[in-house]
Amino acid sequence: MWQKAWSTAIDAALLLSGAIVGTDIPQCRLLPGDVAWPSTDAWSTLNNSIDGRLIKPIPIGAPCHHPNYDAEQCEIVRKNWRQPAFHELHPSSIMDPIFLNKTCDPFTDPSIPCSRGPYVEYTVNVTKPEHVIKTLKFVEEHNLRFVIKNTGHDYMGRSTGAGAVSVWMHHLKGITIIDNYDSPSSSYKGAAVKVSAGVTGEELVGAVDKHGLAIVSGECPTVGFAGGYIQGGGHSVLSSRYGMGADQVLSYEVITPGGKFVTASPTENEDLYWALSGGGGGTYGILWSVTIKAYPDVPVTIASLAFATQGISQDTFWKAIAAYQRNTPRLTDAKVFSFAVYSLAGFSLDPVFAPGLTVDEVNALLKPFIDDLNELGIQYMHSVSNHPGYLAAFSSVPAFQGAEIANFQIGNRLLPRRLWEDESSFEDLMNTLKSIANQGGALLDIAVRPTLEVAGYPDNAILPAWRNAERTMGVITMLDDHQSLESIFNDQHKVTHEFAEALRRLAPEAGSYLNEASPIEPNVKHAFYGANYDRLLQIKDKYDPHQLLYGSISVGGDRWEETAEGRLCRRDTSGGMIIQFRRYLESMKGEL
Ligand SMILES: Cc1cc2nc3c(=O)[nH]c(=O)nc-3n(C[C@H](O)[C@H](O)[C@H](O)COP(=O)(O)OP(=O)(O)OC[C@H]3O[C@@H](n4cnc5c(N)ncnc54)[C@H](O)[C@@H]3O)c2cc1C
Repeated sequence: MWQKAWSTAIDAALLLSGAIVGTDIPQCRLLPGDVAWPSTDAWSTLNNSIDGRLIKPIPIGAPCHHPNYDAEQCEIVRKNWRQPAFHELHPSSIMDPIFLNKTCDPFTDPSIPCSRGPYVEYTVNVTKPEHVIKTLKFVEEHNLRFVIKNTGHDYMGRSTGAGAVSVWMHHLKGITIIDNYDSPSSSYKGAAVKVSAGVTGEELVGAVDKHGLAIVSGECPTVGFAGGYIQGGGHSVLSSRYGMGADQVLSYEVITPGGKFVTASPTENEDLYWALSGGGGGTYGILWSVTIKAYPDVPVTIASLAFATQGISQDTFWKAIAAYQRNTPRLTDAKVFSFAVYSLAGFSLDPVFAPGLTVDEVNALLKPFIDDLNELGIQYMHSVSNHPGYLAAFSSVPAFQGAEIANFQIGNRLLPRRLWEDESSFEDLMNTLKSIANQGGALLDIAVRPTLEVAGYPDNAILPAWRNAERTMGVITMLDDHQSLESIFNDQHKVTHEFAEALRRLAPEAGSYLNEASPIEPNVKHAFYGANYDRLLQIKDKYDPHQLLYGSISVGGDRWEETAEGRLCRRDTSGGMIIQFRRYLESMKGEL
């Protein structure tokens, strides 16, 4: 009875708060158990209206917990926990454990039952636009939290939400090759491909390869193409040659949060087209498809090189890293991409990805670095090979094909070319990298140069700092399956406020790649959106006036916050009062 009274008080607060604010956006979204939560009949009516596509997902780790404990099934979950495909095929699972709050974690005490945690309550397995449109109407009518999930790769927690209803776009797999794209909306003439919302990078690369084409897609084969990747900007092994993923977009088909199916292109809903191209996933609308440029495929040379720290002094190791750093502008100037990972354990460069270059040309590019290694007396493993095209080269990179998830805490900064151009900045850069490694961090060092020139001077919402970048520099600490929440948060804090902050100080004017950054980045607006933020917010509010789409780091996301129980509430002045009232009620819950 007291529970009911408490719940009614919460609902009263929700109602009251709307009146105080004087707006039609409710103060808080509902959670299961609230008096106003839709009835079983209402869910059933929704399900009937969307061809029975509604799922009430069971969290992926449920077989590892009482009362569903099943030793065999639990072992399968544990073994596959770091495999992207395992989570991708699950209707509510996401890949970044920091957002799971240890809820239903397969490695925690099996006798503790799973709680709802940050998982969505219902998922709609979408196959038609009507499924999205009707779900949007339902969540708005019932004041529910709404989420869009594709693969669940997001490092920023945007593809889950406590008690939410999600649209799961992952089964939309259409790929249509357009031999000669010709549209009044663009001066581009050439090959193109129309890609549905659920297609992954590897599916797309495989499909266009059969037509002798290559496209700009992510390095990790399982990342969704037309979801968070393209809307976040999207870097690629081809970005030093053709620009970012979002630079390739010719048009989108989008469902607006108001339920309209529209086209967004340089001549139709131009503002939406601009925002979707780099302004962040899950913020402006629900992408149904994207049409992008495709390029004639060319042979690709790839190279790798690795050495350990064993048997060499720290000083020699850092001289070798400096030699690599000094050599990379030659690579990016030749439109080459390279991915190096290093820490106090060693250095691994895998791959150098050189589209259109021969083995001899790549050997010549790497020669100064290799000469330096020889002079330093470093033993290394090195290979170079040529492949007939993008797919063949891409498929032969072990670091891409075997990419695991759920294994680190991440931060990121874009580092401008100027740091490589004068001695004093270069010295600061080297000292910073060394200091991060000495404190237990590892560097995910991606040399890529998606200048406006290589991208063809597109007008879109990609963070301007990308255009001067020489690096997207990831910084990580490794995550252990059995690590406590407290220790995970401490590490994330260190990555953000010490490692990424040290990189930020090297070039405060730059920014950070919003898809691969710290989810607790302290300066979201400047770091992820820069000068584009105000325009993006206007566009968001035009297309999503009721703020159905939310992400904590998304444009407009700072207007909301989650309470301790995971409820999404507005953060404005009066909201602060209501949230405090709610916290008071929550704190009284035990006593009622
Ligand atoms: C292992 C790994 C490797 C990665 N490699 C790369 C890489 O090589 N290059 C790179 O640039 N990035 C890379 N990323 C980052 C990646 O781009 C982001 O995680 C991206 O958000 C994933 O998008 P998704 O649609 O697959 O994932 P999801 O988690 O399903 O979605 C991510 C965001 O997009 C939104 N979204 C999804 N579908 C839609 C839709 N149809 N309409 C509107 N919004 C939608 C979601 O709401 C969420 O906000 C990698 C990430 C991981 C975990």
